[in-house]
Amino acid sequence: MKKNQIIDLEITDLSYEAMGVAHYEGMTVFVTNALPSEVVSAKILKVKKNFAFAKIEEIKKESPDRVKIKLNQWVQTGLASLAHIKYDKQLEFKRNQVVNLLKKAHLDEIEVGQTLPSPEQTGYRNKAQVPVREYNGQLEIGFFRRHSHDLVPLTNFFTTDPEIDRVLVAVRDVLRKYKIAPYDEVNNTGIIRYLDVRRSKANGEIMVILVSRVKDFPQMMGVAAEISQIPKVSGLVLNYNPKKTNVILGKKDYLVFGNDQITDQIGDLKFRISPQSFFQINSLQTPRLYDLAIKQADLGSDDVVIDAYSGIGTIGLSVAKHVKAVRGIEVVRDAIKDAKDNAELNGIENAKYYLGKAEEIMPRWAKKGMKTDVVFVDPPRKGLTPEFINATVKTGPKKVVYISCSPATMIRDLLLFQKQGYEFKRIDPVDMFPQTPHVEAVTVLTKKK
Ligand code: SAH
Repeated sequence: MKKNQIIDLEITDLSYEAMGVAHYEGMTVFVTNALPSEVVSAKILKVKKNFAFAKIEEIKKESPDRVKIKLNQWVQTGLASLAHIKYDKQLEFKRNQVVNLLKKAHLDEIEVGQTLPSPEQTGYRNKAQVPVREYNGQLEIGFFRRHSHDLVPLTNFFTTDPEIDRVLVAVRDVLRKYKIAPYDEVNNTGIIRYLDVRRSKANGEIMVILVSRVKDFPQMMGVAAEISQIPKVSGLVLNYNPKKTNVILGKKDYLVFGNDQITDQIGDLKFRISPQSFFQINSLQTPRLYDLAIKQADLGSDDVVIDAYSGIGTIGLSVAKHVKAVRGIEVVRDAIKDAKDNAELNGIENAKYYLGKAEEIMPRWAKKGMKTDVVFVDPPRKGLTPEFINATVKTGPKKVVYISCSPATMIRDLLLFQKQGYEFKRIDPVDMFPQTPHVEAVTVLTKKK
C-alpha cells in the first residue's frame, strides 16, 4: 500500500473516533467520514506498519444511515464528526462503545441501557471556545481541522446555541474593525488567541472572554465599548495567556466591564458561573443526567453525601435539601467560590465546599475516620485514582454514583471498586454531545451486604 494510491474499500465498522474501518491486504484502513456497509473508492493518505489512513474519493454504495449535511466542514473539523450519521444510529454507536469496553473487560453480564437522547440535537451547546487566526490575510474565527491546527473558517458552529454564534461573529467583526492581530501560534505573536462565549439558557445573559497573549493593547477601550453594544452581553473578561501552549485559558482573568458571572438554572436551582468554572454544556440534557444519577442514589434524610469533582456545586446542591449534609471537593478556585455563592443563592446551609484535589482530600478525610453514605463522583476524562477509590471505600458509603465522560476510565475504576466489595449491574449512556463521538455514562455501585 502506498500514499496517494486509490483503492476500493468495503467499510465494516466504525472506530471510536467515528472513522470508517476497512480491511485491505492484511492492513486496517481508517477512512474519514465513511460508514459501515458503504463501498468507497478511497485515497490513501498515510501508511503505518499495520494500518493506514484514507479519505473518500467517491461513495460507490451509500449507507442508509447517512444523512446529508449542509457543511462538510463540521465533520472535517471534528466539531461534529458524527453529523453525517442519523441520530438514532449515533445513539446506537455510543451504546456500542460501552458494550465493547465491557466485553474487553470480561464484564459481558453488565446491562447497558439505551442511550438517553438529547432534547436538542443541534444548537445545544451553552458555550463555545473558538480559535482566532489569520486566514487568507484576514482575522478569522473557525475550528481546527481534525488532528491539526489548520483553521477552517466558520460562522455557523452547528452544535452551539445560535445566539452564541451571533455574538462570535459580532466580536470577530469588532476585532477586524480595530485591526487586532490574530494569534500566531508558531511564533507566539499576535494578540487574540480564542473567543470564549457562554450563554445562560435560563435568562439569555452572555459572557464574552477574550483570550489574549497580552494583558492590554492600545485598542482595548474601543473594542470593549463596541462589545458592550452587542445585545445581551452582560460582561467582558480578558483572559491573559502569554505562553506558547495549546492550553486554551491562562490562569488570570481581568474583568473589563459588567459581571464576571452569568446565572443559569438547573431544575429549580440557580447557578452562578465564573469564567474558569466548569458548567455542563448541554443545558437541557443536564437535569436529565442528574435525575438519572440521583434516582439511583437511594438518598435518605440522615445521609452524609460527598460531591467529588463538584464544579460549581450543581449535583450536591440538587440533593442538599433531601439529605443531612453535603461536602463538595473541587480543584478550581473560581468553581469553589461559585459553589459557595450558589449554596447561598439557593438558601442551602448544609453544603460545604473544599478546595483541592479529590485524590488528596478524600484520603485525609478517611484517615480522620469520616463516614459517608453516598459519594457522587464526576471526574474529568482521566477518571479516578486508586488512592481516591481506596479512601472512598474506607468511608463506607452504601452507594457510589459514578458520572463519567470517558467510559474506558470509568470501567477501569469500577473494577477497582468491585475488588473492594462493591457491585454494579448496569451502565446508562447519556447523550450530552449530539453529533460528536463523546459518550457520557452513569452507573451506581452498591456496597455488598
Ligand atoms: N459535577 C460538576 C463538574 C464535573 S466536571 C458538574 O456536573 O457540573 C469535573 C470537575 O472536576 C471540573 O470542575 C474540574 O475542575 C474538577 N477537577 C478536575 N480534576 C480534579 C481533581 N483532581 N480533584 C478535584 N476536582 C477536580
